[in-house]
Amino acid sequence: MFVGHFAIGFGAKRWAPKTSVGTLMFAALLADLLVFVFVAVGIEHISIRPGITRVNALNLYDFAWSHSLVMDVVWGALLAAAYWLTRRYGRGAWVLFAAVLSHWVLDWASHRPDMPLAPGFHRYYGLGLYNSPLGLLIVEGGLWVIGIILYLRATHTRGFAGHLVLWTFIVVFTALWLLSFNGEPPPSVHVLVTVDLILFPIVFGWAYWIDRLRQPDETSAQV
Ligand SMILES: [Zn+2]
Repeated sequence: MFVGHFAIGFGAKRWAPKTSVGTLMFAALLADLLVFVFVAVGIEHISIRPGITRVNALNLYDFAWSHSLVMDVVWGALLAAAYWLTRRYGRGAWVLFAAVLSHWVLDWASHRPDMPLAPGFHRYYGLGLYNSPLGLLIVEGGLWVIGIILYLRATHTRGFAGHLVLWTFIVVFTALWLLSFNGEPPPSVHVLVTVDLILFPIVFGWAYWIDRLRQPDETSAQV
């Protein structure tokens, strides 16, 4: 998924109001950041096969270190532990752990059966929403809207910039997400990895910026 993971990052603010939405976004997208780093250094391997699903042309045949359920538990635990050690905010650490794990669940819903359970364990799972553009549009779009609403209800802006920076992010990534439905494959794995490794720091930086311009509501910490 794409904005489905962003939705988790935004929505999670509701349950961890003192954690920056930049860090929450990082957790929700960690598996995708790792796959591009691991492909770049040769630990994981992916290829492009147009038509492999109707929406997404990636053949993800070797990505268990970043995307298996067991490894997502490990990455989530490591991130949560690092966060707890530096911030001593237990609630935030638990929410970050859950956000990392959510990545497997959302990818399982969208991918063809290519989602591994653990490295070296050759059984794969996936509901395949990528083969149903309308289904994906409804499920992922619904998640995106819910994530945005949760975030808007959990925070308020200190001024116009808080609206502008947030809504520009939403408009830009909604447009990129809708464009991804054209089924056009990326020109090469190298281009895909390079573009994503440039895009990810921008996404996280932008999310940290949004967080600095918006204040968590007191009540969101209560539930
Ligand atoms: Zn993924």
